[in-house]
Amino acid sequence: MRPLSKSKLIAFRQCPRRVWLEVHRPDLKADSAATQASYEIGYSVGDIARQIYDRDGKGELIDIDALGFPGVFNATAEALTRRNPVFEAAFTSGDALALADILLPAGQRKWRMVEVKASTSVKDYYREDLAIQTHIATKAGIPLESMSLAHIDSSWVYPGGGNYAGLLVEEDLTEETRQQVGAVQQWIDAAQAIVARPDAPTVKTGRQCDIPYACGFYDHCASLEPTVEMPVYWLPRARGAWAERGMVDLRDVPLKELNETQRLVRDCTISGETHFDAEGAQSDLAGLPFPAYFLDFETIQFAVPIWAGTRPYQQIPFQYSLHRLDDQGRIEHREFLDLSGQDPSRAFAERLIADCGDSGPVFVYNQAFEKTRMAELAERFPDLKPGLEAILARVVDLYPIARNRYYHPSQRGSWSIKSVLPAVVPELSYETLDGVQNGGDAQEAFLESISPQTPIERRETLQRQLLTYCALDTYAMVRLWQVFSARTDWAL
Ligand code: SF4
Repeated sequence: MRPLSKSKLIAFRQCPRRVWLEVHRPDLKADSAATQASYEIGYSVGDIARQIYDRDGKGELIDIDALGFPGVFNATAEALTRRNPVFEAAFTSGDALALADILLPAGQRKWRMVEVKASTSVKDYYREDLAIQTHIATKAGIPLESMSLAHIDSSWVYPGGGNYAGLLVEEDLTEETRQQVGAVQQWIDAAQAIVARPDAPTVKTGRQCDIPYACGFYDHCASLEPTVEMPVYWLPRARGAWAERGMVDLRDVPLKELNETQRLVRDCTISGETHFDAEGAQSDLAGLPFPAYFLDFETIQFAVPIWAGTRPYQQIPFQYSLHRLDDQGRIEHREFLDLSGQDPSRAFAERLIADCGDSGPVFVYNQAFEKTRMAELAERFPDLKPGLEAILARVVDLYPIARNRYYHPSQRGSWSIKSVLPAVVPELSYETLDGVQNGGDAQEAFLESISPQTPIERRETLQRQLLTYCALDTYAMVRLWQVFSARTDWAL
């Protein structure tokens, strides 16, 4: 019997088919960019946690890459005899194995176990994680005094200078973990029975594929299932409940269970026809003066802040695009992008205030994002507050107009600008963009650009891709405005 790692046991708890695939067909796994990014975040938080917990510099890291198995077990056993903090301690119960983020010496030759998470709170599924860890450690003969979870304190502000004391906050889960630990052996036995099978258990894709973690086998599993012409998940909201009741096609859902928007999506999908309340859209936009501005931000966030005065996971704007349209149908474009690697916030806010002028609506798409960023900048830079608040007072959201007045079957239940644009203006699409095609790509491009290792030519390419992408976001809004305002006589 091969011992199952804690991550495989967690995979089993999510879905028995997943643990079988993890063991026998890891080649079928395709983690999303978001999942891979979350691994990177986890590593960066783990590195900082070691700094924080290694107060006197005597801590020992058990390096799995250098030692492999069973070397890590021997190295852990030796390190534990020295009674210093041990990081990535490895232990096995024979049928399972785990690596503990942090073991700290406690009284009576016991240990205090701390698991580090990059989240900002204790999630329910972390309790199972800690129970599994505790069960394996105890069976391996490591006496534990307490078990706790260290997660990020999102209210903490980085003072700069590499001082990360205060980034993590610890919650003692000893009692809760002890209550759950009795169930773990059953989980291990059941998981071992699954992986001993010659074939993967059959499990239909469903809610479990994303909860608590996005499963990297989704494409594989979905490819084995019959294609659904009009999937129920195209209906906005409440998708999980219908799928759980076996409704896979949106035509399966009883009409009485659909709200107005869901009915609209259903009817347009079945008929293949577009819904456009042209009069309503025109009246929504009537009376707004010129010049009109169209604004979009790109932001970056760090679990471990790199700029003094910022918080973990704070969304920090590094780029904007702004189109200005006057009453003669003339367009001007302004933009900001800071790839210096320094905190872009203040320069961003100053340029934005200068570029937005004094009057005229400032159109955004889904206003909460841009408005929240401007409010945060106003709080950080009180001298810029009046200028930012003046822009905030002029914001007009195009999203509810699109949502209330327009739907094309190709949107598949989404009113994101990337879904609406190709429907309203077929000659424009994000898919033809080179490199950066969405917000996630923009964040990756930004991080690569500010890395000192990135060659200058590559940085120039990324800069061009970022500028082109963000400019399309605001030009897309101009074209939506044009169709919704019935100003198709203007050559925009
Ligand atoms: S995609 Fe869903 S059904 Fe397939 S292994 Fe993952 S969780 Fe299980």
